[in-house]
Amino acid sequence: MQPVAWLAMIDARWKPGGSLAEPGERHEEYQDLRCLLLDGAVERSNELVALAECIARACMGEDHLWHDLGLPSRAELSGLLQEHFSRLALLNVGGMRWKKFFYKQLCEQAGISVCRAPSCGVCALYGECFGNEELPLFGLAALV
Ligand code: SF4
Repeated sequence: MQPVAWLAMIDARWKPGGSLAEPGERHEEYQDLRCLLLDGAVERSNELVALAECIARACMGEDHLWHDLGLPSRAELSGLLQEHFSRLALLNVGGMRWKKFFYKQLCEQAGISVCRAPSCGVCALYGECFGNEELPLFGLAALV
């Protein structure tokens, strides 16, 4: 799907002029995420820059990234990233949740680790990084 079609699906809150478009105090974090995405992009078009900026902003949302972006499920977000940010998406070999994966990449680039376990397989937080990303029942109920 073309970047412009993905942009049309994304929640307007994150787009320029949207209620959450400005990162405010989290500007540095936003810039790091934006760079991470653009470094992994397949091209540098205006539409892909706009997509990267929306995704970087939505990473600061409270919910699953796909949900905050307004996408139907994690599968669409995976499809978007694999199609247009494939150089980055290919690094997520374990299927880590995307937001966790982005922040882990930033930590690794900075030479720091927030992980206390020696590997994911023995980590008590495994479910938080790799668990399914369905909405909790109360979340679904709130949407209907
Ligand atoms: S599962 Fe544990 S070790 Fe793996 S990325 Fe998450 S916090 Fe780090």
